[in-house]
Amino acid sequence: MKKLLLLATGGTIACRETENGLSPALSGAELVDFVPKLHDFCTVDVRDLMQLDSTDMTAGDRLNIAQAVRRDAERYDGFVIAHGTDTLAYTAALLYHLLADLSKPVVLTGSMLPMGAPDSDAPRNLLDACRVAADGRTGVVAVLSGKILAGNRVVKFHSTQIDAFLSAGMPPLGTVGSDGKVRWDVPAALPAQTAPAAIDPHILLVKLTPDLDPTFFTALHGYPKVMLETFGAGGIPARLESEVRALIASGTRVYITSQCIAGGVHLHHYAVGRRAEAMGAISLGDRTTEDALAAVMCGEI
Ligand code: ASP
Repeated sequence: MKKLLLLATGGTIACRETENGLSPALSGAELVDFVPKLHDFCTVDVRDLMQLDSTDMTAGDRLNIAQAVRRDAERYDGFVIAHGTDTLAYTAALLYHLLADLSKPVVLTGSMLPMGAPDSDAPRNLLDACRVAADGRTGVVAVLSGKILAGNRVVKFHSTQIDAFLSAGMPPLGTVGSDGKVRWDVPAALPAQTAPAAIDPHILLVKLTPDLDPTFFTALHGYPKVMLETFGAGGIPARLESEVRALIASGTRVYITSQCIAGGVHLHHYAVGRRAEAMGAISLGDRTTEDALAAVMCGEI
């Protein structure tokens, strides 16, 4: 039998109705009690790390999760993280970088309806996540609605429906069938040699809109890192050129990402993109916003 560690962090999966609305209440052990089938193929120890709506999570909480995995890396065959779905993509992306060198499965899951609610997706997702963790393939992934998503490709695209996640820019890595079989459609990658030891969360994401007030950029002067979510293949509008130049001259590192969910930044295609290149803005390629933030926080770019 595979030996798994479940790290409980809160989220809808652990929620109960209160007079103030849904709030995390169930412990990790209570979550496991809802899914007795788990015991057919694994043993699960539980650690209640935090009990948060993932809206309240910060990089520090995500670092705690990474450290909890590392602390017990030798004792378990795999790790499952029960997490709120709203910011699960941010956690998956950050853990993807922080645990890049770990040769164990790390599987995030959550649910759109609380464990125990009628027609909840929680029992299936927790069971599937344990199946993937017990399967043994190394790497950080998310398992939701039967899909196995690479940690750096997770996007939550729907705020209410059960099937709320997609894999941006590449197909899911695999699936978990209704028969419980784990099927991988994409070959496994080897763990990295090293992983970042620290993170710096001082990065600000600014979404360009067609009429963004140019004077806004002055307020950002000297801020360490600013990521501009630009249009399509990426570029700086002419009417913002001198402001973005001045921002870079103030010492701020400026990164470019795209508002498109897939396809990425290609600054060389258009004159507006070359304008960004010429002023020294840094392309983040085809990373998702969540992965781009994680990579920059980890100092990889
Ligand atoms: N607000 C919840 C959370 O992210 C939503 C969920 O888990 O589905 O914690």
